[in-house]
Amino acid sequence: MNYLVTGGAGFVGSHVAQSLLDAGHDVTVLDNLSTGHRAAVPQGADFLEVDLADADATDKAVGTRRWDGVLHFAALSLVGDSMREPFHYLRQNTLTSLNLIQACARHGTQRFVFSSTAALFGGDDRPPPIADNAQIDPGSPYGESKFFIERALVWADRICGLRSACLRYFNAAGADPGGRLGEDHRPETHLIPLTIDAALGRRPPLKLFGDDYATRDGTCVRDYIHVTDLADAHIRALGQLTDRSVTYNLGNGLGFTNLEVIRAVERVSGRKVPWEPAPRRAGDPAVLVADSSRIRKETGWDPQYQDIDIIVATALRWREAHPDGYGS
Ligand code: UDP
Repeated sequence: MNYLVTGGAGFVGSHVAQSLLDAGHDVTVLDNLSTGHRAAVPQGADFLEVDLADADATDKAVGTRRWDGVLHFAALSLVGDSMREPFHYLRQNTLTSLNLIQACARHGTQRFVFSSTAALFGGDDRPPPIADNAQIDPGSPYGESKFFIERALVWADRICGLRSACLRYFNAAGADPGGRLGEDHRPETHLIPLTIDAALGRRPPLKLFGDDYATRDGTCVRDYIHVTDLADAHIRALGQLTDRSVTYNLGNGLGFTNLEVIRAVERVSGRKVPWEPAPRRAGDPAVLVADSSRIRKETGWDPQYQDIDIIVATALRWREAHPDGYGS
């Protein structure tokens, strides 16, 4: 089959593109390389350097082939940045996605998979885990922009027959177990790569944001899902899009505290992680853990890399082998 992957030069998009190629499909990556890396586009994928903000170029790119599915990852994705630049985030994520969705509808694309987020669920006042039908209450302009796009897809289905899967990820982590791809954000803000780099002595000590949350050791709890398990979920979700649209929460249902992540990095690397306490980071909920029972039940999805040590080990392997990430 022929798949178009927007944002396929980024962390999750590149791993999904790789899994599609491994499954024998043809893949075209569309990316403007604003945050992604040309070297992250998997070997064997075609590449289109296109900015989704350009409606004409987007329409032309979508019109080049008959796609069996479009998978949409390209987005601004930092909660903290969205709190500082709300209108930029709202405008950029919604306009680029509308350009893409409209082009898909115009060219008769039947299936669309959207990279949504646990940030739709906002604040702290619900007991974990978070179910697929939990109340939506975005805690940031980033989460709000993703929710708007989910709503646009509801209308694209009702009016244009474009079937979609909205996948709400919790904390994507790890790296390709084959060592072909990894995580390289600039700037890096995520806990696991920063903790690994601190252990390897490549960065200053990790700042641990907050130690007075109402959790078992006072630090935040997150649900880390291996990026290859995420990729598998995308492929399974595509299989659901014959006559309906779906939304799924995607996580392991296992929560690890930030201190437990530090200890996992120490175990796996055999090195001490230098870290220091720091104030809470604005907008961080204490606990984010997914109830992914719907996607498990409906697609048979069964994550293979749930062990935090394996998640960390795959990330560590790639970072050790790529001291400069994907290069400059
Ligand atoms: N975190 C931290 N120090 C850092 C980066 C992250 O203590 O330098 C914490 C952060 O406050 C949160 C957890 O690690 O409690 C996961 O943060 P990350 O940015 O990786 O993912 P998020 O849950 O925000 O999507």
